[in-house]
This record gives sequence, C-alpha cells and structure tokens, in this order.
Amino acid sequence: MIVLGVESTAHTASVGIVDDAATVLSLASDMYRPKAGGIHPREAANHHVEVLPGLVEAALAGAHLSSREIDAVAFAQGPGLGPCLRAGATVARVLSLAWQRPLVAVNHCVAHVEIARVLSGLDDPLLLYASGGNTQVIAHGRGRYRVLGETLDIGVGNFLDKLWIEVGGVFPGGPAIEAEAQLGRELLELPYSVHGMDVAFSGMLTAALALREKGASRADLAYSVEVTAYAMLTEITERALAHRRREGVVLGGGVACNERLRGMVRAMVEGRGGTMFAPSRQLCVDNGAMIAWTGLLARQRGASVSVEASAIEPRQRTDLVETPWRAG
Ligand code: AMP
Ligand code: MG
Repeated sequence: MIVLGVESTAHTASVGIVDDAATVLSLASDMYRPKAGGIHPREAANHHVEVLPGLVEAALAGAHLSSREIDAVAFAQGPGLGPCLRAGATVARVLSLAWQRPLVAVNHCVAHVEIARVLSGLDDPLLLYASGGNTQVIAHGRGRYRVLGETLDIGVGNFLDKLWIEVGGVFPGGPAIEAEAQLGRELLELPYSVHGMDVAFSGMLTAALALREKGASRADLAYSVEVTAYAMLTEITERALAHRRREGVVLGGGVACNERLRGMVRAMVEGRGGTMFAPSRQLCVDNGAMIAWTGLLARQRGASVSVEASAIEPRQRTDLVETPWRAG
C-alpha cells in the first residue's frame, strides 16, 4: 500500500508519500515565514494554498510514482489553525475525488507519535511532543493515546518564538536561541514551573523579558531559558516514564530538533535503563510523511471518510481519536 499525506496544521505545508514498510518515498515541504511577528493564520493559509499543488507534484516526482499508484490520500484533520487546516483538507479532498482513492483523516499529534514509533523500533514508547503550539507527554492506553501531561498555557516553541521576537529576533526563535545559547556563560534564575506532569511557560517569558530590561545579555538569556525550559520538559517526561513503566521515549515536534533537549532527555532515559529515540529533523517538524504513515495504518484497518464527513477539527484532542491499528 502507498499513501500520500497532506500536512497543513500551522506554518508548514507538506506532502509526503510512504509505503507499508514505512519507507518515506518522498517528502516535499514549504514553511510560511512571517516577515515580522508571529504566525498569522490567514496569511499562512494563503501560503499553503499557493504551494500545495506544487508540493503534490514534487512529491509524486520525487517518489517516481504516478497518481494511479497512490492507494489513499490522508490529511491532517486537527488540531491546528482553522484556515491552515482547511487549505490542506481541500487539497486532499480534490485529490481523493480526482484519483478516486479513499480519503483518510489523521490526528496531527498521533501522527507525530506513529512516525517516531515506527522509526524507533520501540513497540510502546512514551512520546514527548514539543512543538510550536503543542507541548505534551503522551502514552498509549486502553485503545487511545492519552495525554499524561501538557502545557497549561503556551507551547514551548511559541514561548521561544515570542521571547526571541521580543528581544529583536525573527521567527522561528527556537533555532536562533539554540545558536545564541552556545555563547551564554551565566545561568540566570527563571521561574521553574512544573505542576505534577504539567508545565507552564508564560511566567518564564515575563521574567526573561524583565531580566533583559535590566541588561541581561541575549546569550545568557538564551542559555538560561534553554536549560530551565528543557529541564522542565525532562522532569515531566521522567515522571510519566516512572509511572507508566515504558521501555523508552521518543521525541517529536520542532523543538525536538534541539540538541540540548535531546541530550537532556537521553541522559535521563538512559540513566533509567531505557532507550531514547529522536527522528531526523525533517521528520520531527511538521511533515506530510507522518500524516501519510498514520493514514496508512488507519487505511490498513479499513478507515476512510467521505468528503461530506471530512470537516476539519481545529481543537481535536489526541485522546478522542480511535487507534484501531494498536492492540490493547
Ligand atoms: P512545529 O510546530 O513542530 O512545526 O515546530 C516549530 C517550532 O519548533 C517553532 O516554535 C520553532 O521555534 C521550534 N524549533 C525548531 N527548531 C528548533 C531548535 N533547534 N531548538 C528549539 N526549537 C526549535
Ligand atoms: Mg506538529
């Protein structure tokens, strides 16, 4: 079985094609970059409408396939920004109708877990999903993916992006802060906000900006923010791991590209005798291949959705989605 997947939940428009051995046959992505400030949903959606047709062609060409060889079309139904989701869903519906192939709706967070799970070789890992809009610790249980802990306010990536823009940088802030943090020397005290298995970042944002006002260097700030925020994420992941007794942890989301975060989580997991796995950067960030792969798992169990019933769900929750391809 070969499935084409369309991702468009936020700033990245992406089309991926995978086969049933989880080989990524091709992946074509294009990220919307605002000229100033954060992401504007309608502008991002306009970007996606413009680039998606070309990305579909590029993905087919990259996989050396014709549309006749595609067995199903999957799309990210939610969660995400409404206008952006609608752009990808529309393209997927058109392809499904034109090619006369089933349409499969996929949850974006579940897709991050499934691509990391298959690539890791771990059967039932915990996922730390750290992206722009989402920050969650997820494990499977009783037929669904369960959110064990999450951010109580903003996603860790949005926190990094906001901070970086406020101190004069441009979006995306995460990679820029990672580079700047290399130059940091002093660990500044910032609010460490862990509540059980949940975290919060807005207090740290306020405190970091106040330190900047008082003359803290961007480098020290970047370093301190990374150490503090990633320690928080590592702590809630460790707590979930201890309670759920999983053999390993996989990472997903754009912030999971970060070497410091990868190192901290790896040290924690390996210290407990477990395995840590992080996909390649292009499969950590939002991408069409993870949508295609999860769509393929669902399609193998007979899933499909009619165009009429394929409405987007901007607030779709991970734990409301059935996962019939997983036992237990
Ligand atoms: P996503 O929402 O999964 O597409 O990821 C986008 C988010 O990941 C943005 O908030 C970026 O700032 C963040 N990000 C990307 N690369 C890095 C990195 N190397 N370190 C920290 N954050 C990153
Ligand atoms: Mg994502």
